[in-house]
Amino acid sequence: MANKSVIVVGGGIVGCLTAMQLRKQGHTVTLVERNIVAAQTSGESSWAGAGIAFPLLPWFYQDVVNELALAGARAYPAVSAELFAETGIDPECTRSGMLIRPPFDRQQAIAWCHRFGLEVIQQGQDLLIPEVVQIRNPRLLQSLKAWLIKHGVTLREQTQLMPLQEGASSIKHWQTTSGEILSADVFVVTSGAWSFELLKQTALSLDIKPMRGQMLLYQMLPGLLPHILYRDGFYMLQRRDGHLLAGSSLEDVGFDTGVTDSMREEMLQKAEAMLPELKGQPIVKHWSGLRPGTPHNIPTIGRHPQIENLYLNTGHFRYGVTMAPECARRIAVLLA
Ligand SMILES: Cc1cc2nc3c(=O)[nH]c(=O)nc-3n(C[C@H](O)[C@H](O)[C@H](O)COP(=O)(O)OP(=O)(O)OC[C@H]3O[C@@H](n4cnc5c(N)ncnc54)[C@H](O)[C@@H]3O)c2cc1C
Repeated sequence: MANKSVIVVGGGIVGCLTAMQLRKQGHTVTLVERNIVAAQTSGESSWAGAGIAFPLLPWFYQDVVNELALAGARAYPAVSAELFAETGIDPECTRSGMLIRPPFDRQQAIAWCHRFGLEVIQQGQDLLIPEVVQIRNPRLLQSLKAWLIKHGVTLREQTQLMPLQEGASSIKHWQTTSGEILSADVFVVTSGAWSFELLKQTALSLDIKPMRGQMLLYQMLPGLLPHILYRDGFYMLQRRDGHLLAGSSLEDVGFDTGVTDSMREEMLQKAEAMLPELKGQPIVKHWSGLRPGTPHNIPTIGRHPQIENLYLNTGHFRYGVTMAPECARRIAVLLA
């Protein structure tokens, strides 16, 4: 495809990485975001996530999920280094490794790691997968934003697109909620949990709904938690400056972006049980985000079946951070 004007709808990690890839391909790219890119405003998933670039117990997922996740995860060290070199903002891609505590099926886990070419080390009852990296989501978003601006991507923040109306076989214009008309050759929807609302008149079978996740943040001395620690649906990880995240919940509560005392207490109990050093430590922050929930965690990456210049890159559910570099690459290949 010759160079086109492209509008990317949604400025989370998926949208920013998609915009970056398309810009690198030479397209003229506009990123439209109803809020502010890289800010925590109202439930966007990308700011809220933990930034573990790996599925939790990947052996429970279909290969297609793990292929996207591993390809994305393996791209992060280079993506992060490039962003740091170009913007001076370090997304802090760190090879922490993931330590998995029982209960889990040891044989199944080891067999899966061998099949996907991952080193796995047994430490007593635990399993360590050293290759797993973490990324600091808010920093990643800030560096992506800086990269996009530096490379001439137009950012249209505080600009919300209206739900698309059915009927056309291609789109020339898309209206914003303030009545403005935006035009492009190609549109890519990367609107996370809001994608179905945006497309429901044209994509009835798109199965995406918000799934809330709450998270707790502590400030501890750096080096307390050398690995990402996982046990029985709950995880903790520490950033380089000592900030320690513990989470997360998985709640089907629609677009409610609130946090609850009961979940705070439940997560606090789990965190203290896994890491007794947290007892009595204050919680620095407690937040939530809305994941773009999909059956079996399978995203939709491709061209709309009826609208020839509309593409979708959405529905990454629990692993959108992990998958984003690979999914952005695939969209760029499709457009090419
Ligand atoms: C607590 C929690 C922990 C998580 N941990 C991890 C993890 O460790 N690893 C991992 O890989 N994933 C994790 N995830 C999941 C991951 O965060 C998501 O899959 C990913 O961020 C989805 O990115 P996105 O860009 O599609 O969505 P979002 O970040 O939600 O971005 C969508 C954007 O579209 C904008 N938008 C919506 N509608 C419109 C419109 N009409 N017009 C313009 N803009 C619009 C929104 O404002 C938003 O900014 C976690 C999520 C949560 C909530």
